[in-house]
Amino acid sequence: MIKKFKLDHAYLGRIEKDKDLLKELTKIVKEKDIKTGTIKVIGAVQNAKIGFYDQAVRKYEYINIDSEMEIVSCIGNISNLDGKPFIHAHIVLADDNGKCFGGHLSEGTKVFASEFIIQPLIGNQLERKYDKKTDLKLW
Ligand code: ZN
Repeated sequence: MIKKFKLDHAYLGRIEKDKDLLKELTKIVKEKDIKTGTIKVIGAVQNAKIGFYDQAVRKYEYINIDSEMEIVSCIGNISNLDGKPFIHAHIVLADDNGKCFGGHLSEGTKVFASEFIIQPLIGNQLERKYDKKTDLKLW
């Protein structure tokens, strides 16, 4: 599946300390009424919850990291799931030795400081639908 979009203006901002990274990004996307787009975030978190999709079991396993980490990279996309804007984002985090951990960004990741760029895209809205081959809701 390939679709073509045009770039629109971008939103740059930051998420305040102690806020939940994914919840806040979702709030901004809803407030700005962004249907399709991309997201990039850098900064630092106080703790993190990241997911790993077990392909055999067809279920997300979650890893809780209870320490401060740098957000090396967090990228994601915005599409529509069950009539609502939905963010799918992955995050790479580094500890105080530069060792990295990464996975599917989940609620439960608390911000220390973060700067984001949200780039809305103009075109036909992306709609997530159940995919039998993976048991996931994909475009
Ligand atoms: Zn994912």
